[in-house]
Amino acid sequence: MAVSMTGAHEPPLPPSPSVNVAAVTASVLGRWAEARTRTRQVIANPDLWKVDGLTVDSHRDRVMGQLHLLAASGLVHRAFPAHLGGSDDPGGNIAAFEDLVLADPSLQIKAGVQWGLFGSTVLHLGTQDHHDRFLPGIMDLTTPGVFAMTETGHGSDVAHLATTATFDPGTGMFDLHTPDRSAWKDYLGNAAVHGKAAVVFAQLRTATAGQEPVSHGVHAFWVPIRDEAGTFLPGVGGNDDGVKGGLNGIDNGRLHFTHVAVPRENLLDRYGQVHPDGSYTSPIANPNRRFFTMLGTLVQGRVSLVGASVAAARMACTVAVRYGASRRQFRSPGAETETALLDYQTHQRRLLPNLAATYAYGYAHEQLLETFHSVFSADPAAEHSPEQEAARERLEVFAAALKPAATWHAVHSLQAAREACGGQGFLAENQLVGWRADLDVYTTFEGDNTVLLQLVAKRLLAQYGARAGAGLDGVAQLARDHVADTARSAGFALAGQVIADRGSTARAVGYLREEDAQRELLSGRVHAMTAHLANQLRKVRALPAAEAAALVNAHQQELVDLALAWVDLNTWEALNVAVHQLEAQDPGTGQVMMWLRDLHGLHLVETHAAWYLVQGRLTPARVQAITAYINTRLLPRLREHAVDLVDGFGYGPEQVRAPIAWLGQQG
Ligand SMILES: Cc1cc2nc3c(=O)[nH]c(=O)nc-3n(C[C@H](O)[C@H](O)[C@H](O)COP(=O)(O)OP(=O)(O)OC[C@H]3O[C@@H](n4cnc5c(N)ncnc54)[C@H](O)[C@@H]3O)c2cc1C
Repeated sequence: MAVSMTGAHEPPLPPSPSVNVAAVTASVLGRWAEARTRTRQVIANPDLWKVDGLTVDSHRDRVMGQLHLLAASGLVHRAFPAHLGGSDDPGGNIAAFEDLVLADPSLQIKAGVQWGLFGSTVLHLGTQDHHDRFLPGIMDLTTPGVFAMTETGHGSDVAHLATTATFDPGTGMFDLHTPDRSAWKDYLGNAAVHGKAAVVFAQLRTATAGQEPVSHGVHAFWVPIRDEAGTFLPGVGGNDDGVKGGLNGIDNGRLHFTHVAVPRENLLDRYGQVHPDGSYTSPIANPNRRFFTMLGTLVQGRVSLVGASVAAARMACTVAVRYGASRRQFRSPGAETETALLDYQTHQRRLLPNLAATYAYGYAHEQLLETFHSVFSADPAAEHSPEQEAARERLEVFAAALKPAATWHAVHSLQAAREACGGQGFLAENQLVGWRADLDVYTTFEGDNTVLLQLVAKRLLAQYGARAGAGLDGVAQLARDHVADTARSAGFALAGQVIADRGSTARAVGYLREEDAQRELLSGRVHAMTAHLANQLRKVRALPAAEAAALVNAHQQELVDLALAWVDLNTWEALNVAVHQLEAQDPGTGQVMMWLRDLHGLHLVETHAAWYLVQGRLTPARVQAITAYINTRLLPRLREHAVDLVDGFGYGPEQVRAPIAWLGQQG
């Protein structure tokens, strides 16, 4: 008889169902199974694997050589037009990118710079002429390139980049110029050594004789930077960023431009054209909207990093869970064998909620990818239709929310796995430390996490305001009503919880196991936080700019918390959908996955227990019941299936190469 969370004696757990690992793997591989399987085959080649301990120069050379292997494999060309040898498949392209992180994160990110950032800027901001002139060299790597957006002085604030490109109708050229040291382009992949050309983001200005130049905002320009011998072209300068905290197979560096002449035809002018007489036209009249539309076309970098982070977290879970199941330490009194690490509750606590979250992020990423694919494969003629703009808005919010949460999750999972593997975890051959160092900066590039989350929260508030339908007063009223409703219903809910539970933990747990209860808790948090912030910030638009900024700043942490609460809800929903699909195929697998979903949902509620208590949404008894239910029911149940669940990711020793993951014992 087991002692339960209430201290009473309860019958032992019933026999456990079994997991159909192949069905789980098929679900994980999802719609783009072919692309993902192909990548897993390609990276089984040891020539693509990271070698620890190389010098920076050797690592850079090795990764550059690996990029040529990728170019030859065609794996990285899916996003490009079919008539140039691609397959017009934006979703498949990102699906194929995800697991490259397992070969070497430097290889993945350098490939991302070349074919993702550099190539996709030409693809999305250029026109047919640019595609025909530049994409073939990008695709086959005869033109290694640089995505030159960030400046030392302006990273997150792209709208205020200081590099200028001023058009002179007399010469038909743009004058590309870096005004000062803080406007040097910085951290750019491929800039230190290998880059031959760059897409440079600069403030486009047109000049009329005798008048001050007029600025039309940030635009992208195709700029050759080095000759065939690797020497900077006239007016171009730069240097090496040197050794970094990770990703040392990439040659990040700085670039600056001193009155470099750029032909008018090299402006990537899909969204803004400069004519020979110096006049400027754009299909999007509003400069602010134009800027965000142009940046929005580059969202694929964020979507890619979500997929890469999921793959890294899957690798971390695979290593730590498989090792924890085979490694034994300490013998319980009377036991014949020593205890497997994974049988210790603390070990389960450290690894299994991460495993659940990794599944949830994987399925949320798949939904994001579906959205991305439908937006980028839609008819370009309908690009500015209200439906397409709404779809793009949804995509941008989803990507801006998932990128921070998934990259943080990957770093956290790698660290948790590292510690869970003890001394073995610290050996480079077991991958965790190297990948943790490399994945660290995924939280910063493609949009700093904290900055992105604020953007998400502001969009959520704007959507909330739009639903109010009556401008600011409507928002304020809606928020006040919501808060009042929440307070009223929370009061009733608490009283109801006490009555319904009648002091029984089992009854409390029965409620919390329900799908609707978990959804209500997670979505209730999002709604309450949104309403609260809408109310707090309702005066923003009426205030002078400085006061408005101060008011927003006073609520900045709450904005970030709101965005993360929204991510929690969406990852749980994505996991829930996938679990029901698996349940329909195989009830035993569905049952185990349901426990995983419960663990994800209840662990999120437990993490924010203070909020639920302060808001009066859960009684202290229910909060205690959640912790007890996780510790004594969900974790032991899932421990039995943990190896099957990590095997469900479908990796073998060629993808996850840590020797400790494959010791051959399953505990
Ligand atoms: C290894 C590496 C590779 C890169 N590759 C490229 C590349 O190929 N091409 C390219 O163009 N760029 C590249 N970048 C640049 C990268 O995109 C920027 O570093 C990133 O956008 C952040 O900008 P920043 O470094 O100036 O940080 P900052 O914007 O200065 O942010 C620093 C800190 O301040 C905080 N912060 C900033 N603004 C706010 C705010 N409004 N509210 C609250 N907190 C705030 C941030 O959260 C962050 O913690 C790379 C960077 C690195 C490190």
